[in-house]
Amino acid sequence: MYFGALEAGGTKMVLAIMDENGNETERESIPTRTPDETMPEMIRFFSEVPIAALGIGGFGPLNLDKKSAAYGSIMETPKLAWRHYPLMKTFEDALHVPVGIDTDVNAAALAEARLGAARGLESCLYVTVGTGIGGGVIANGRPVHGMMHPEIGHIMVTPDPADPMPNGVCPYHPHCLEGLAAGPSMEKRWGISAKELPHDHKAWDIESTYLAQLCAYAILALSPEKIILGGGVMQQKFLLPLIRQKTVKLLNGYIAHPNFEDGLETYIVEPGLGTRSGITGAYLLAREAYTEAGK
Ligand code: ADP
Ligand code: ZN
Repeated sequence: MYFGALEAGGTKMVLAIMDENGNETERESIPTRTPDETMPEMIRFFSEVPIAALGIGGFGPLNLDKKSAAYGSIMETPKLAWRHYPLMKTFEDALHVPVGIDTDVNAAALAEARLGAARGLESCLYVTVGTGIGGGVIANGRPVHGMMHPEIGHIMVTPDPADPMPNGVCPYHPHCLEGLAAGPSMEKRWGISAKELPHDHKAWDIESTYLAQLCAYAILALSPEKIILGGGVMQQKFLLPLIRQKTVKLLNGYIAHPNFEDGLETYIVEPGLGTRSGITGAYLLAREAYTEAGK
């Protein structure tokens, strides 16, 4: 039995076929253009193998209200061609299989909770720090939706006094985390890509200050059992210890828990599934959709 998995990103779509043991048998990556161009390509890929269900971890915001007629559609995205696009329904109609959908980061968080760094735990926060900043939350073993779904990348942070660009690049919020700490804001602030910034550049001190504010906020507001930080910017491995130290400092002893005894070393961690959290989460969503459909 085969399952389709789609990691639908704003710049690229990663498509995979996996068998019932989760082994990947096929993979393709295509640029995200308009739905008219990209959907037929994806439908063709998923039609080549008789998949039992499809799972989608999608860029958002997404409509995840099962009572809504627009369930599984993309909402107010700056990618205009995809605004209000019925992503889930289009696949259901074309492939005639159950389709499960959640945000890309909720899918990644689910995979980390079931199979990765938070395996065996009932809760975790997964955050990607890349072109944007997004966070998926697992509570009681399930992705949190609530009113919509968390948008933790846009929490307001206190600008670092040493930040030469204290107003970030988010068109909605001058002081949100994404606008101040995602890859594009680093590039705008320093004039070179985050990838090229040397380790001793003061950029990293400022970056870790912002990401520590996120971790402290998450600990206080959500109390996850593990915080997992992934995405392109976190490829800079020296960032993680800086973030841990600053999180400890920000909380200033207020939270007393054994997780703090090793300086959060086993609490704020990199993804256990490496760069595969998202696609693995999409696979898990496919499996769930299949089970829920009672097949
Ligand atoms: P996306 O968020 O688009 O899915 P990534 O997670 O790779 O993809 O994020 C891309 C962003 O991360 C870019 O802004 C880039 O500058 C930054 N980035 C990618 N790789 C690295 C790296 N090794 N070190 C620092 N920043 C990186
Ligand atoms: Zn914002």
